[in-house]
Amino acid sequence: MSTISIAIHGGAGTLIKGQMTSEKETAYRNALQNALDIGYKLLEKGASAIDAVEQAVVALENTPLFNAGKGSVFTNAGTHEMDASIMEGKGLKAGAVSLITGIKNPISLAKQVMLKSEHVFLAGDGAMRFAKENGFGIEKPTYFYDQFRYEQWQEIKDSDSFQLDHSDKKDSKFGTVGAVACDQSGNIAAATSTGGMTNKKWGRVGDSPMIGAGNYANNHTCAVSCTGSGEFFIRGVVAYDVSCLMEYKGLSLQQAAEEVIMNRILKIGGDGGLIAVDAKGNVAMPFNTEGMYRGFKSSNGDEVVAIYR
Ligand code: ASP
Repeated sequence: MSTISIAIHGGAGTLIKGQMTSEKETAYRNALQNALDIGYKLLEKGASAIDAVEQAVVALENTPLFNAGKGSVFTNAGTHEMDASIMEGKGLKAGAVSLITGIKNPISLAKQVMLKSEHVFLAGDGAMRFAKENGFGIEKPTYFYDQFRYEQWQEIKDSDSFQLDHSDKKDSKFGTVGAVACDQSGNIAAATSTGGMTNKKWGRVGDSPMIGAGNYANNHTCAVSCTGSGEFFIRGVVAYDVSCLMEYKGLSLQQAAEEVIMNRILKIGGDGGLIAVDAKGNVAMPFNTEGMYRGFKSSNGDEVVAIYR
């Protein structure tokens, strides 16, 4: 039986310590711990990595604290457009959705695309038709309303700027969520879900739903979920780059993940981080920002929930 492990993130960024009250910090830590426990318990019971990462991400999507599902940011049009992707490392099967609205758990829709369609990536109206045909309910916009996110959007909605979750002037962070896991059979999987950027328009899509950029899994190398400035993560093909460094250069998980986040993505101007796991249950969680909401738990006894460096 393999070492089981799961890692989760709730976004990276400039998490200004002074702006975090102890109540807020406790709420974030509890939400991370809850998602971690849900995923880990499933793995302990023998569930697959794909089911564990889905359910950990569902838990993160259901809290308004992170920019995914319920907590998704506002678009320029005052709506919520969400992106998600999921991949399993044994058969390299993947599913992804983009520009979807009203879906409570985008990660489950991405999984359904993987399981029930012959496609990998569905977007916009077509993805919504697929959701309805597959029995997904549609939430009212009020489900996604959050006063804080609304104020973030109000500050910039009449400008051409868009921003990653929190304003630069304030606490600038990327609130995308993700999970990676290694199950008892040594199969690995990755899941990522996001509301994207506040005030985004023109059908902007980031790295999160793009297989290879924000999310990737391959049993021979690693499972990766990213968070950060999506445009740079797309151009750096970050998640697949970690896998390539392991496959073609023989780097360890930790070496490959650090090389990409601390060197290669920084060189092209990208900031953020990632979580990664390999089929032996090793975990890496590098980030080049001030903090990253993160946690991991492994059957070798290691357990961490952390926000800052
Ligand atoms: N990577 C996400 C995007 O660009 C943002 C995030 O990580 O929060 O859409």
